[in-house]
Amino acid sequence: HNAKEQGVDIRRYIPAMQMKAKERLKLENDLRRALERGEFYLVYQPQVLLETEEIVGMEALLRWNHPKRGLVSPVDFIPIAEESGMIVPIGEWVLRTACQQNKTWQNAGYRPICVSINLSMRQFLQPNLAGKIGAILQEIGLDPSYVDLEITESMTLDKETAFDQLNRLKRLGVCISIDDFGTGYSSLHYLKNMPIDRLKIDRSFVSEVMEDSNNAAIVSTITSMAHHLKLKVTAEGVENKEQLHFLRQQHCHEAQGFLFSKPVKAEEFELSFLKPLLEMPS
Ligand code: C2E
Ligand code: MG
Ligand code: MG
Ligand code: MG
Repeated sequence: HNAKEQGVDIRRYIPAMQMKAKERLKLENDLRRALERGEFYLVYQPQVLLETEEIVGMEALLRWNHPKRGLVSPVDFIPIAEESGMIVPIGEWVLRTACQQNKTWQNAGYRPICVSINLSMRQFLQPNLAGKIGAILQEIGLDPSYVDLEITESMTLDKETAFDQLNRLKRLGVCISIDDFGTGYSSLHYLKNMPIDRLKIDRSFVSEVMEDSNNAAIVSTITSMAHHLKLKVTAEGVENKEQLHFLRQQHCHEAQGFLFSKPVKAEEFELSFLKPLLEMPS
């Protein structure tokens, strides 16, 4: 009665809410079988060194080909995987698949590049994560310096746990990046002390950098701070030449975005972006 007086008819919302919960439960059940049914695959998006325009890295991004719904976005299924704990085996599959792909390309004689892999909170909180990753790298035979692990600011909220975990990961020899930088909680204190290698400036700042002078100020400040802290800095979501020009002016190291390429399947990445280690003299 009260809610209706305030202009909200609760009765109209209950079925919708139930539907959402039911829908979600269905998706969760489907997700449970997706790994064994081979419904996941990875796409790769190039990371470009601005100074030389060389492709120096690729970010591995997870895709779910649902038998009935078709392609489901990671934005929709990663949170479900995270809350249900399924992200742990799924994340391990991503790690293994991306590292194996990188090693296969190195073996084929392409110039080696770094593969960036997104870690979820649950994965990051696993006490034996570094041991697991170390074992995977050893099994595959991939040099850890060609692996970059992306975490978000929220994962470093518990400073002591994050610090220990990052140190264990760093001892493996992998790189650590802070993804979506600028959107979360970040104290300058942790930036100074955490063993990290790179900041990835969130797409939201980069996408409006030419229209919004506040965004320009933020991008410029993050870039200059990264230089001072001796961190690498990568801009996410670069879509046009104007943004690229601005990033060059700021001496941003690397960029990633639709201007260069959307994320593509392995075969297409190999054809479009990989270069042989030894150029044949022409
Ligand atoms: P992210 O790690 O920040 O990845 C970048 C996202 O931005 C990707 O979306 C990519 O397709 C998109 N993107 C790249 N360049 C542009 C651009 O120029 N314009 C626009 N509009 N978008 C661009 P995607 O693949 O849908 O992934 C969304 C998020 O899902 C990722 O954000 C990441 O947080 C999560 N995710 C994806 N794969 C994995 C995974 O294997 N594990 C975990 N834990 N999370 C993942
Ligand atoms: Mg990422
Ligand atoms: Mg992310
Ligand atoms: Mg990001």
